[in-house]
Amino acid sequence: MMFRLIYFIYLYHHVKFELMKLLTHEIKISVFQTEELPDEFAQLVEKAKAQTQNSYAPYSTFNVGAALLLDNDEIICGSNQENSAYPSGICAERVAMFYANSLFPKVAVKAMAIAAHTNGHFLTEPITPCGACRQVLLESENRYNKDIKIILYGVEKTYILENVKQLLPLSFGKGNLEL
Ligand SMILES: [Zn+2]
Repeated sequence: MMFRLIYFIYLYHHVKFELMKLLTHEIKISVFQTEELPDEFAQLVEKAKAQTQNSYAPYSTFNVGAALLLDNDEIICGSNQENSAYPSGICAERVAMFYANSLFPKVAVKAMAIAAHTNGHFLTEPITPCGACRQVLLESENRYNKDIKIILYGVEKTYILENVKQLLPLSFGKGNLEL
């Protein structure tokens, strides 16, 4: 065992790996001063902020609200819903998306705004969705073949991304299941 460990350390320090190529991936984020957000986005942000009031987050005290604008101009909101069995809870983004897809299964989503506050204050920096939510949002974008603008609210600045793919480079999707 000790020999193996020493051998591994030797290899780690002495074997040079040849790099075939270095890939970089660029994402585009439009950064706005929050008070200067265009009206169409500001309205959705206000809905997301209001929705944080409906959050049930006694464990994290991290209250998140999401507001979706659909192709039929309906706005659907969701908030995070925690559970004493922690993994049973669900994020605001997925609550809103699944709710929208359940109510209007044939209607694409155009945009989603997300806001969060904790200890009575909205976050200064833009809130970003977790990995699981990014995957769910991507599914919707692919399902309806329509970009979903992502609006990430912060008190000082707000980020806008043109689509979910910007949030999830090297994503896994339906196409990966086809041989
Ligand atoms: Zn999430």
